[in-house]
Amino acid sequence: MKLYKRNQTRKINIGGVIIGGGMPIAIQSMTNTNTKDWKATVKQIKQLEEVGCEIVRVSLPDMESAYNVSKIKKNIKIPLVADIHFDYRIALEAIRQGVDKLRINPGNIGSKDKVEILVKEAKKAHISIRIGVNAGSLKEVHNFHDNASRVKALANAAMEHVKILEKHDFFDIAVSLKASNIDTTIQAYRIFASKRNYPLHLGITESGSIFSGTIKSSAGLGIMLYDGLGDTVRVSLTADPVEEVKVAYSLLQSLELRSSGIEIISCPTCARTQVDLIKIVSDIEKRVSTIKNLRKLSKPIRVAIMGCVVNGPGEAKDADFGIAGGKVEGVLFKNGEIVGKVKADKWGQKLVSMIKDRLSDILQE
Ligand code: SF4
Repeated sequence: MKLYKRNQTRKINIGGVIIGGGMPIAIQSMTNTNTKDWKATVKQIKQLEEVGCEIVRVSLPDMESAYNVSKIKKNIKIPLVADIHFDYRIALEAIRQGVDKLRINPGNIGSKDKVEILVKEAKKAHISIRIGVNAGSLKEVHNFHDNASRVKALANAAMEHVKILEKHDFFDIAVSLKASNIDTTIQAYRIFASKRNYPLHLGITESGSIFSGTIKSSAGLGIMLYDGLGDTVRVSLTADPVEEVKVAYSLLQSLELRSSGIEIISCPTCARTQVDLIKIVSDIEKRVSTIKNLRKLSKPIRVAIMGCVVNGPGEAKDADFGIAGGKVEGVLFKNGEIVGKVKADKWGQKLVSMIKDRLSDILQE
C-alpha cells in the first residue's frame, strides 16, 4: 500500500480498534434502525460487518435506547459508538452498558458538574469521546453569511468543546468538523489540525444520495486524505449504510490507503467493444461482493475486464489477471500476457473462480 505523508496524530483506542498515529484509516458507518429495536439494530450491524465496517455508531435519543447497548454489544464484533445529544444521563447509561466510545459535545450537556461526572466515568471505563461539530446544528455558524466566518465559527466551536475535556485532563479525543459545503469542511479541518493533534474523523455531512453523495464525499474527503488528514472516515449517504462502507473502501482504495480486496479495472467501452461489457462488469461486481475474506488481503487483487484484445491486455498491464473481449470469446491474460480463451458467457464464472483461487493461495502463504 502506498502511504501519503499522513498527519501525525495521537493514537486512541475505540474498543480495540486503534485510530491515529498513522494506523490504517478506519471505516465507520451509522445504523438507521430504531435503537429501541435492538434486534433490528444488530441485524443491520451484522450486514455492515459483512462488508467490512470497522466501527459502528448508533443514536441514543432516549434512555430506552441506552438500555439496549449491552444487548447490541453482545451480538456484534465491532466497536460500538453511542451518539448522544444534550442528556448526560443517557451517556452515563451507555457507559454503564459497555459502550466503546461516545459522540457527545461537552458544551451541550449542561453544567460543569455534569461534564465532570461524565468525564470521570469515561476515564474509568477507558473509553474515548468524539467531539463532532456540525455546521447544520450550530447557530454560531448560521449567524454568518460568508464562508470565511463560517469556517472560523466551526473550528472555534470544536476548539471550545475540546478545551472543556482538556480542562478535565481528558485527551482520548477524536474530532470531526462537518459541513455540507466542501470548502467550509476542508478549511475547518485544516484549521483544527494546525492547532491540535487529536485524530480526525472525516466526513462531509448531508452529502446526498448514493450518486451525488459519493461524488461529493469523494471530492471533499479525497482532498483532505491526500493532504494527510484523517484517521477514520464516515461517508454519509441517504441510503442503506452498507453503501457507505462500500463507498468508503472504494475511495480509500483509489487513494491506495486501504484495500477493499478486489480492484476491478474495466475500460469505458468504444466502437471496438463487441460484448455487453457494462452488464458483464456489473455481474462480476455482484459476484465478487459475495466472496468472503477479501478484507484480509493487504493489497488488492487487480482484475481487468476489457472490451477488446487490441488494447485490453496492454491497458490492463498492471492487473493480476483479466479477460479482454472478442465477439464469441475473450482472451484470458495474466500480467499483460495472453494465456488462454474464455467463451463470452463464462467470463464471470471464470474470473470469480480465479479470484477465489488467488485468494486462497494468498491466505495460505
Ligand atoms: S480496451 Fe478496447 S474496447 Fe475498451 S475502450 Fe480500449 S480500445 Fe475500446
